[in-house]
Amino acid sequence: MGEQEHFETGERVAVLTTQPLDRLLDYRAPEGGCFLGAFVEVPLGPRKVLGVVWGPGSGDFDSSKLRSVIRVLDVAPMRGEMRAFLGKAADYTLTPMPAMLRLASRAPGLSDPPSMRKILRRGDRDPDRMTDARARVLDTIEDYGGLAFTPKELADMAGVTPSVVKGLVKQGALSEEETPRDLPYPHLDPELPGKELTEDQASAAAALEEAVKSGSYGTTLLKGVTGSGKTEVYLEAVAAALRAGRQALVLLPEIALTAEFLKRVEARFGATPAEWHSGATMTERRRVWRMVGQGKAQLVIGARSALFLPFRDLGLIIVDEEHDTSYKQEDGVLYNARDMAVLRAAMCSAQVVLASATPSLETWANAEAGKYKRLDLTSRFGASVLPEMRAVDMRSEDLLPATWISPTLKYAMKARLERGEQSLLFLNRRGFAPVTICRACGAQVACDHCDSRMVEHRFLKRLMCHQCGETKPVPEACPSCQVEGKMAPVGPGIERLGEEAAALFPEARIAVLSSDLFGSARALKQRIEEIAAGEADIILGTQLVAKGHNFPLLTLVGVIDADLGLQGSDLRAAERTFQLMRQVAGRAGRAEKPGEALLQTFQPEHPVIRAILSGDEEAFWKAEAAERQAAGVPPFGRMAGIILSGPDLAQVFELGETLARNDGALRQVGAQLFGPAPAPIARIRGRHRVRMLVKAAKGAPLQEAIARWIAPVRLKGDLRLSVDIDPQSFF
Ligand code: ADP
Ligand code: ZN
Repeated sequence: MGEQEHFETGERVAVLTTQPLDRLLDYRAPEGGCFLGAFVEVPLGPRKVLGVVWGPGSGDFDSSKLRSVIRVLDVAPMRGEMRAFLGKAADYTLTPMPAMLRLASRAPGLSDPPSMRKILRRGDRDPDRMTDARARVLDTIEDYGGLAFTPKELADMAGVTPSVVKGLVKQGALSEEETPRDLPYPHLDPELPGKELTEDQASAAAALEEAVKSGSYGTTLLKGVTGSGKTEVYLEAVAAALRAGRQALVLLPEIALTAEFLKRVEARFGATPAEWHSGATMTERRRVWRMVGQGKAQLVIGARSALFLPFRDLGLIIVDEEHDTSYKQEDGVLYNARDMAVLRAAMCSAQVVLASATPSLETWANAEAGKYKRLDLTSRFGASVLPEMRAVDMRSEDLLPATWISPTLKYAMKARLERGEQSLLFLNRRGFAPVTICRACGAQVACDHCDSRMVEHRFLKRLMCHQCGETKPVPEACPSCQVEGKMAPVGPGIERLGEEAAALFPEARIAVLSSDLFGSARALKQRIEEIAAGEADIILGTQLVAKGHNFPLLTLVGVIDADLGLQGSDLRAAERTFQLMRQVAGRAGRAEKPGEALLQTFQPEHPVIRAILSGDEEAFWKAEAAERQAAGVPPFGRMAGIILSGPDLAQVFELGETLARNDGALRQVGAQLFGPAPAPIARIRGRHRVRMLVKAAKGAPLQEAIARWIAPVRLKGDLRLSVDIDPQSFF
């Protein structure tokens, strides 16, 4: 195409900024010129903002008023392939480009010059006097395993003023060091020996290595039960990418990013890889971003946003637990990291490996259709087998009021305790009780800002709204009828189940694992590791225990309410329940000890429950696919959710109705529009929410049609419109 790569001093360039504008801005190239893709600082009104040189200037702006780029930042220019990826991702998700650029430039201190900086570590001495603020600072360092922070980071993270930190330095409780800002990551050696692979592991690994060596794009589903060695296999694909001199990215659901996992990678390649996730410090994030761009980080282990790092030569993306719903970003830019991984790989001739024990129906269907290759690992490594799964028919179990552990499950737990093995009780509900009701008038305590009930968290001694996070004390008197002393918890949450287990087994060591019970992700991960090492007899957990942790001593899984996920009208309810139950059950019996999974259910004959118990996965997927095909819903048709919200309900509805009356652009491509209707959660944080749903045939140009349809909308006041392509949930 003969694209111009360098602009001379004073030449007109078009710059994409991170500011919410719907167009590029023209500037003059700075002294010395700049490259296409250069990260620059430009003046915008009175401010300096970050931008990227996107091409030659358009020329329709008065050149006498043209301002100059202030300076070119000291980072590698954005590569053409990354610019193209951002453009395609923006079109796919109907996201404005500035928001895409913000995702791709989320590195703190991007504009700082490279230099030395001051960092703090824990010093040898203790402070003379321990105040709350001082303790928070020292705890922060401890929580992060003794990592170093800059003084500002430390003060921010601990929520204290800089003077508290300074005071601790003076007393020797913190020590100062000078280090270069960003160091390259240590070299990873693909030639170190991996584990000796079993026959089907070895052939899967060979197929992936072959694909990586081809240097072209391709996607492979790597399917195998938990413990079948998927990780061992894909690490060989990583080795192949490193041998080819290319970079690799392993995406994990945030919570699966454990020290245990990083140690395995370190053991395979002889050094630690770069990490990218929300728990990483600003300093770490900055280092990863820069080093990835220079090719001095060969491997990144990261959460979904790592997809937007400026890799120099990305040759392989692994999406582990590809079905995981946390890959779908649910606020800000609505993207599914799995789909974006495939898009990005296609643009840079990389291979994608989607690893899962329970792939999403989308991926399964793509493999069936031959778009993705498929590799199956059929057995678990070593002697371990999948646990035996049984239903506990709750209609014939005798339970006392306000208890949820059936006698059958209780006896199974007792047997584990006697043998020194672990049991896990799974209940996907945080808090103590999902509902607080007044026994006098029957009213339930609801959030003041949302259409949702407040959940009691006994650990916090408060009620909490799971939509907006608002908390309040459990009221003495009923907010409706004012009668005192009649407020009572109804139904089980994980904390309440913990009390029940403790009452049944007073001598047992009980651990409750719920994301809200831990101050930081690291504290939670550390607790999980202790438990894996045997520091608990009975584990109670929410969804987070289903993900990728190894509990070698665990031989029993009890699902408290297998019917829970099947309630509601979500398109993916059956798929999710199937996946979650299989994953949770897969926690049991990883080592030599056989496991057992008991599913408490009131509907043992339900097709999904039967499919889970029989373990006939292909049959389940085929039936589920047939149903979705008949209904014309994803992955056999296309959908987009439109959420309108605002403080005034009538206004929100009016906007919806205006859109519905003017749906010509949608009808042109044969798309159907449903709604406006109140969203399942009709109010969040005081904002009323109205939903619309667009359905179209698989081949329809859905995004283009939606873009044309909403283009005339001018959002007045506090109204908001957001488009969710391929919605995962319907809240
Ligand atoms: P998955 O990713 O499918 O859950 P992993 O790769 O984590 O499975 O393997 C499960 C366990 O079995 C891990 O501890 C792993 O190190 C071990 N393992 C798997 N395959 C082998 C092998 N070929 N040799 C030695 N250990 C293995
Ligand atoms: Zn609320």
